Amino acid sequence: MTAQLIDGTALSKQIRAEVAQRAAALTARGHQPGLAVILVGEDPASQVYVRNKVKACQEHGLHSVFEKYDATLSEADLLARIDALNKDSTIHGILVQMPLPRHIDSTKVIEAIATTKDVDGYSVLSAGELVAGLPGFRPCTPYGCMKLIESTGADLRGKHAVVIGRSNTVGKPMALLLLQANATVTICHSATPDLGYHTRQADVIVAAVGRRNTVTADMVKPGAIVIDVGMNRNDEGKLCGDVDFAGISQVASAITPVPGGVGPMTITMLLVNTIESAERVAAAQ
Ligand code: NAP
Repeated sequence: MTAQLIDGTALSKQIRAEVAQRAAALTARGHQPGLAVILVGEDPASQVYVRNKVKACQEHGLHSVFEKYDATLSEADLLARIDALNKDSTIHGILVQMPLPRHIDSTKVIEAIATTKDVDGYSVLSAGELVAGLPGFRPCTPYGCMKLIESTGADLRGKHAVVIGRSNTVGKPMALLLLQANATVTICHSATPDLGYHTRQADVIVAAVGRRNTVTADMVKPGAIVIDVGMNRNDEGKLCGDVDFAGISQVASAITPVPGGVGPMTITMLLVNTIESAERVAAAQ
């Protein structure tokens, strides 16, 4: 079997076209969606991520505010900025790029963002809404993974999904979203003794580990859907995921590539969450 390639770049483009339409409609009603992005410090990877988020806003009709601070910014000053943005009616989403310098308590910062503007979906309240099945913001990467799975046309009801990784930002919300879609879900992690035992039973595998070749072809049931969240470097320094893409492509029914799979979807779902936030505000007025 040669797996269908799940093209995150193409799907992302399609969803972003819808985002641009929704942004234009909101702007016409006087509610241009706005995202504030805060970067503290000089982390090179964070600078790239932040630049891409701001650029994506500009290209799709969202208003964006980019605030960059020295690594010496105090926690109190950062909290004061978040408080001001919470009160700013032109801002519908607030994102503080992680990681923060060590002297700043990131949990305190995330919890300071108004739940109505928590478009990253990282706060305890947003996590609780997801657990309880209430409307709220879903963390962007797992939300994007769900869209990628949906794009294959697969019905998740009654299917067995195995999520590898249990981080608060990817693994755990991913498992909850799959559960919400009526899959039977298994979560694996570093203390799981025989990962292959679980993955071989899976109709859907989502790998969010951060270690290449965590999943190989012999660990995949023929016809499974494989979503690769991992971002690693191979021996040649090229970007690669957590799964053996070439080998698994011969066994799976559908697979995401790295790059060009989950990656493009993450910023796209951030735009979607910001639009949804602005639409809620517009609907309430
Ligand atoms: P993380 O916080 O480091 O979590 C990694 C998870 O993998 C942990 O739960 C860990 O288990 C588990 N794990 C480690 N070794 C394992 C093994 N041998 N077998 C099974 N599970 C194992 O990472 P993350 O933030 O969730 O991100 C995961 C990967 O996705 C990273 O490569 C990251 O760069 C990538 N990522 C990509 C995007 C994107 O937009 N494409 C977005 C976010 C993250 P324990 O909990 O037991 O330690």
